[in-house]
Amino acid sequence: MSAPEPGKKAARSTETGDHSTCAQQLRDGMDGIDVTVSAAVPLIVGPYTTEPFACPHGTLFWIEPTSEQVAKWRAEEAG
Ligand SMILES: [Zn+2]
Repeated sequence: MSAPEPGKKAARSTETGDHSTCAQQLRDGMDGIDVTVSAAVPLIVGPYTTEPFACPHGTLFWIEPTSEQVAKWRAEEAG
């Protein structure tokens, strides 16, 4: 049994990846939909507010369409 070397970090998991890219990956996953991804609880729960999404690192992200995206949907609905 040997003590871990000082300054040597555990091997980085390739499954979970880097947390700094989590928000971007969520945005990329919303194919064609313009969204904002925030780790902050929404101040106002709107019609498009959904349940938070937990990334592999345990951080909750709220994904909401941008106001531009909502305006586009409304324009499409109006015909
Ligand atoms: Zn993460």
